Amino acid sequence: MKDRIYFSREEMFIMNRDLLLERGVTINDIAEVAYRQQGKYNPNISMRTCVESVEKILSYRDIFHIVQLSIEIDRLCEEGKLRSPIQEIIRADLGMFGIDEIFGLNIASMYGVIGQTNFGDIDVNKPGIVKELNDHGKGDNEMCHTFLDDVVGALAAAASTRVAQITSEETAKKDPHFEPIRFDI
Ligand code: MG
Repeated sequence: MKDRIYFSREEMFIMNRDLLLERGVTINDIAEVAYRQQGKYNPNISMRTCVESVEKILSYRDIFHIVQLSIEIDRLCEEGKLRSPIQEIIRADLGMFGIDEIFGLNIASMYGVIGQTNFGDIDVNKPGIVKELNDHGKGDNEMCHTFLDDVVGALAAAASTRVAQITSEETAKKDPHFEPIRFDI
């Protein structure tokens, strides 16, 4: 697998899942943030749909590249392998840095403006695993989660928005005036 640069969606999902796990993040942790956020608007959503959404999002190629690169930057920073001054800037999780938020926004924008605003909400309020990562990746702690907290928050925002899309689709189909249309795409 060493020389390959193309991977199937199943392979990308497994590599993302395993690397996140290595950094202490489970699919359930991410799904819980999505569930908590979307549950405010749609009380009937299920945790199962949130988990499925996180799994699906983790299999996309763009997401694969961002997750893998982000975790690699955090790891290199922990090992002191980056050069000054970017080593110290990432290590300090400098508030004015913002490249980690760009990665997060890029993930969230997969689900449009709503995805981005959902990411903003998670970024500000830091629910569940996002707060844990943020707290454990700062100061004298040996862990660096400068990129991971934003990536995880954005994955949750994307999953939450996907669940909202599914709910909208279901609502449309429940309308008594709804008539199924057959078309091939
Ligand atoms: Mg960050």
